Amino acid sequence: MAKYAHSVTDRFLRYVTIDTQSSHTSRSFPSTEKQKNLGRLLVQELHEIGIADAHLDEFGYVYGTVPSNTPKKVPVICFCAHMDTSPDVTGQDVKPQIVRNYQGGDIVLPGDRTQVIRVADHPALRDQIGHDIITTDGTTLLGADNKAGVAEIMDAVTILVNNPTIKHGTLKILFTPDEEVGHGVDHVNLKKLGADFGYTMDGESAGNLEDETFSADKATITIRGVSAHPGFAKGKIENAIKIASRIVERLPKDTCSPETTEGREGFLHPTDLAATLECATLGFIVRDFSEEGLREKEVLLESIVNDVMRDFPRSTCELKFDQQYRNMKVVLDRYPQVTANAEEAIRRAGLTPKRTSIRGGTDGARLSFMGLPCPNIFAGEHAFHSRLEWVSVQDMEKAVATIIHLATIWEEQAT
Ligand SMILES: [Zn+2]
Repeated sequence: MAKYAHSVTDRFLRYVTIDTQSSHTSRSFPSTEKQKNLGRLLVQELHEIGIADAHLDEFGYVYGTVPSNTPKKVPVICFCAHMDTSPDVTGQDVKPQIVRNYQGGDIVLPGDRTQVIRVADHPALRDQIGHDIITTDGTTLLGADNKAGVAEIMDAVTILVNNPTIKHGTLKILFTPDEEVGHGVDHVNLKKLGADFGYTMDGESAGNLEDETFSADKATITIRGVSAHPGFAKGKIENAIKIASRIVERLPKDTCSPETTEGREGFLHPTDLAATLECATLGFIVRDFSEEGLREKEVLLESIVNDVMRDFPRSTCELKFDQQYRNMKVVLDRYPQVTANAEEAIRRAGLTPKRTSIRGGTDGARLSFMGLPCPNIFAGEHAFHSRLEWVSVQDMEKAVATIIHLATIWEEQAT
């Protein structure tokens, strides 16, 4: 008998009490040593389940293998989740509570009654009638992002190991640190992992499947103006502060910004400005779902810059674009089976699959371009990075079922 309780909920409640907040300012890897506390517990539990090769490496990654139990040649499938929680809200002393058999209405959090999960702000609560909803007491985040995913993978693996009649190929387990600070795959060893395809379990509502992310570039504009003593400057000064301001002023007002777009629209977004009379640096991020959309926005920025600079003939301006990441759909479209099998697994779990796109990047997107095609499946997380974060027991159980179905679908298709 394993020492630990088995259900996905018991696991989840155990994992969220371990503080694994990552840090933007740290220069070490993982960014916080405490993330390894969860990593060590997961390895210990994997050993008890019988995953003999489970281990935590120096960078804080957990690797493990569920051996194949079929003679067929099945692609090696990896299930991945991140162990860290957001630096935005404290993850220390998380006190989870369960609202059993939720009957609708706002949920007031007991440790800070100003924290209320309102149906008006969280319409997904309407789909949760009769479910058991886990929240915090209102003083911390919950960490369902992404400990729900961790617990679901752990639970699915336990079920598969204990039920040899469920046939599957080799499965790989990967738990990563530092996803929330954008470094979740910096030190991952894909060769050691040895998987053909992967799935991150880090999505929102039950049934969601994400196979698209933004494509992202960064733009940097460096302006050199002309300085002179302001008392004797007539006809001489070309002020870099004013040049930069003019560029910002010329940006589209009703479109093309994060504050005016949603869904599949992209944007051109100024993120930082450092300026003196002589020199200004203006930073942008450029986002779109297609390469053409990115290019259009970059051409627009270039034309604004050229136009403005015509009025400042003695100043110079340099515009530089750097690639940040690309839409993972470009990779996933080459392996349609990966997303199709996830859809089928969601269906077999009794849900209607819903394909959505992420207005941002994910570790799955980076993994896809590193050679591990990796869409994102729901984990049931809601209101991430806030004290109002919640997840339902029943959604986590559906995610566990989805993982198990997915493993068997790959086996069925193999020969
Ligand atoms: Zn996450």
